[in-house]
Amino acid sequence: MPLIGLHVSISGGFLKAVERGETHGCEAIQIFTKNQLQWKAPAISPSQGITFLKALRESGIRRVVAHASYLINLAGEEPLRGKSMEALIDEIERCDHLGIEDLVLHPGAHLGQGLEKGLLNLIEGLRVVLEKTENARVRILLETMAGQGTVLGARVDLFREVLQGLDWNGRMGLCLDTCHLFAAGYELREKGSYEHLVKNLEKNFGLDRIGCWHLNDSKAEKGSHRDRHQHLGEGELGLRFFSILLSDSRWDDVPLILETPKCGMGDCGNMALLRKLRGH
Ligand SMILES: [Zn+2]
Ligand SMILES: [Zn+2]
Repeated sequence: MPLIGLHVSISGGFLKAVERGETHGCEAIQIFTKNQLQWKAPAISPSQGITFLKALRESGIRRVVAHASYLINLAGEEPLRGKSMEALIDEIERCDHLGIEDLVLHPGAHLGQGLEKGLLNLIEGLRVVLEKTENARVRILLETMAGQGTVLGARVDLFREVLQGLDWNGRMGLCLDTCHLFAAGYELREKGSYEHLVKNLEKNFGLDRIGCWHLNDSKAEKGSHRDRHQHLGEGELGLRFFSILLSDSRWDDVPLILETPKCGMGDCGNMALLRKLRGH
């Protein structure tokens, strides 16, 4: 069975995030370990980590995934790239203190210097970060992107180049966002095309590397390269696809995290839909 859940806010502290997850019956949650729009944050104390882990153990939440700051761009040029490497190292240490094993990262944008250069920067940046945090268990999950502007990662093939460039380091994996994949041009609405994608992932990465899915319907059309999350079943993707995904035993124990809008049917409605589609 996949582990279903939500991205929850840490406003009021890490324990509040656990509470929010519990309220919605989450089996997995995703959090930012700091304000995602700021570079700096107060360090996490060992006691904060211990209390968080204790609260988790007493909850029904089985997995926690962290999402790195939106400011980080390893594909960019200096000084942004250096600053991003430092920030990513800090994010990994924060996850380590909280006992979080998976950290979702946007691959970044080349900002006009060209895809090749951006890709090289990204690989090199990740290599340095992995080396400097070699004692941490935290795995970096590169997220598939809609491909707006100069953003990297609209094609899954690019991640193959990144992982190849990092000698298939075991601390690297992928996070698949359903809205982003669809907006990037992947057809998911037919069982055959979904199967084709999963086979591609299995052959090129191995399914163990898929550490997380983001479940979002898409307001924008297929191939639009626009990143517009929508409630499940209220977008262009539709419920059929999500039903196929939820009943696929290849995602047993993998966190499937909602990042749908808070308005309208909101978290309660989307979680209820997921349970219904999964059968319980
Ligand atoms: Zn993301
Ligand atoms: Zn998105």
